[in-house]
This record gives sequence, C-alpha cells and structure tokens, in this order.
Amino acid sequence: LALLLDQVFNEPFAPKPKPFGKRSVSADAIQFGLDNDEFTLFFQPKVNVQSQCVFGAEALIRWFSSEFGGIVGPDEFIPLAEESSLINAITERVIDMSIQELKRFKAEGHRLKLSINVSMLNLSQLDFATNLAAKLKNEAIDPSDIILEITETALMRDATNVLEVLTRLKILGICLSIDDFGTGYSSMSQLQHIPFSELKIDRSFVYGAGENDSTRRILESSASLAQQLAIASVAEGVETREDWDRISALGIDLVQGYFISKPLPPEDFSTWLREWNG
Ligand code: C2E
Ligand code: CA
Ligand code: CA
Ligand code: CA
Repeated sequence: LALLLDQVFNEPFAPKPKPFGKRSVSADAIQFGLDNDEFTLFFQPKVNVQSQCVFGAEALIRWFSSEFGGIVGPDEFIPLAEESSLINAITERVIDMSIQELKRFKAEGHRLKLSINVSMLNLSQLDFATNLAAKLKNEAIDPSDIILEITETALMRDATNVLEVLTRLKILGICLSIDDFGTGYSSMSQLQHIPFSELKIDRSFVYGAGENDSTRRILESSASLAQQLAIASVAEGVETREDWDRISALGIDLVQGYFISKPLPPEDFSTWLREWNG
C-alpha cells in the first residue's frame, strides 16, 4: 500500500500528502471538509439472490480531502466524528446527498431502496425521525425506499432515546437494518423489541465460511434467525462464486459485495445499473 501511495503521490503536480500512517485526522479537519464540500457518496448494489434483480444500494461516504491529498476512508474519521458529535452534521449531509442521488436514479427509471448508515448518536436526537420524514416528504421520496443501517454493537450500548427514535422511524414507514450482525451478542429476545426489517450478516462470517466451521455455523444461525424473525437477510462481503453459492444454498435473500460490484461513484453506478438491467 505504501508503495502504491508513493506512486500515486510522487506525480509532480499531485498535492503533497502527509506521510501515510502519520496523518492525524482532527475534528477541525473534518469541519474543514464539511465546509468545503469534500464529502461524497459511493453506491454499492444489493442484489436479490433468487431473482438477481437489483433490490437497492448502500450509500458509503468518501472524503476527498485536499488537506490529506486523497481519499480518507470512513473508518479513519467516522469514529472521531462520533466522539466530537460532528457525526450529526455528517449524517445530515449524507442524508441530503442520498436523497438527491436517489431522485436522480429514479428519474433514470430505476427502482431502488437506498441504505444509509447511521450512528447511535444520531438516534439519540429525539427529532431525528421527524426531521428525516420532513426531508423525505419535501422531496417526494417514499419513506419505505429508505433503509437505515445501525450496527449491532452500537445497538447494544443502549443509549437514551434510541428505542423511542427507532420506533418513531418505523411508524413513519422508514425501514431499519441491523448491520454487522454477528459481531455483537444480541439475543433473540432483545431483537424482538426492535422494529427491524433486515438483518445484515457481517462480512467476516461470509468470506470465512468456506474454511472455518464455527464461522459457518454463525452464518447459518444468523440466516435462520432472520427467517424466524420473518425479516430479510443480507450477506455482505460476497467476493466469489463460492460465497454466492453458499449464501444461495442457505436461503439468504440479498447479497452485497465485490462479486457483484465494488462501491461506485454515482455516475458509474448509473452505468452499472443500465448494464446489469440491460
Ligand atoms: P459497513 O457499513 O459494514 O460497510 C461495508 C464496508 O465493506 C464498506 O467499506 C465496503 O466498501 C466494504 N465492502 C463491500 N463489499 C466488500 C467485499 O466484497 N469485500 C470486502 N473486503 N469489503 C467489502 P467502507 O466503505 O470503507 O466503509 C467502512 C465502514 O464505515 C462501513 O462499514 C460503515 O460502518 C462506515 N460508514 C461508511 N459510510 C458511512 C456513512 O455515511 N455514515 C456512517 N455513520 N458510517 C459510514
Ligand atoms: Ca452498512
Ligand atoms: Ca456491515
Ligand atoms: Ca462494517
């Protein structure tokens, strides 16, 4: 990776980056990125295993930082944004961009459900649900076309207001998904109280399932848990034909991963949709 970055950044006219590994993302840097519109979304398709139709896409944030001279991945700044509560501004921006792109995909004739990642901190804001519903109404987006992804480990932190906000979202018709399922320890009884419509199995249980028995058992039991709860199951991180076949044999509903497509910038995603459907 260092070698690759060197090659990329030693171009004479490229901005001089801070040495990789030493770059320290700060709250100020994130704020600068927000002020200068440096955040954008990539889209990764979710495909129905049986019909092979495109069900929807997940919006994944990307930061093209002028200060750091390239892309900063979400894992490098989302945790910090959560500590500094900048996450509320980021999620707001993600939602606004998601709505605009979804409108464009629809105008191009595609029917999609859009998945958006939200943090626990967003869900402890009591007005989160009503604000989101108002935006959707303004833009004539059907609330059921939006799926909010919340990680399993975040859910277990049991923050104030969260169950209340999740219930309001559900009542407003917005769908909820448990992300990275299998990495936490939620029980069936906990899950029953939260109005989810989708369970997204963490990719560590998808790619490892070929070689490792205990990994495969977690994958299988997650799939059957979704069935028992009568909610949709998604396998993320499907990279190979073998992964796809294993997922398909388990009756998992939806697949996301490099085997179908990497996350793509909006224009490339439009092209991908045309080709997949055409
Ligand atoms: P996630 O929600 O679990 O997203 C899936 C991650 O797996 C993405 O990484 C995606 O690029 C990657 N991925 C997809 N298919 C494959 C595959 O076949 N193989 C492998 N190895 N990886 C695959 P990304 O985009 O770097 O995002 C990392 C995490 O950052 C996300 O994990 C999510 O937790 C967080 N994140 C991304 N966008 C947002 C956002 O807009 N808001 C918030 N709050 N968090 C976000
Ligand atoms: Ca996600
Ligand atoms: Ca995930
Ligand atoms: Ca993840």
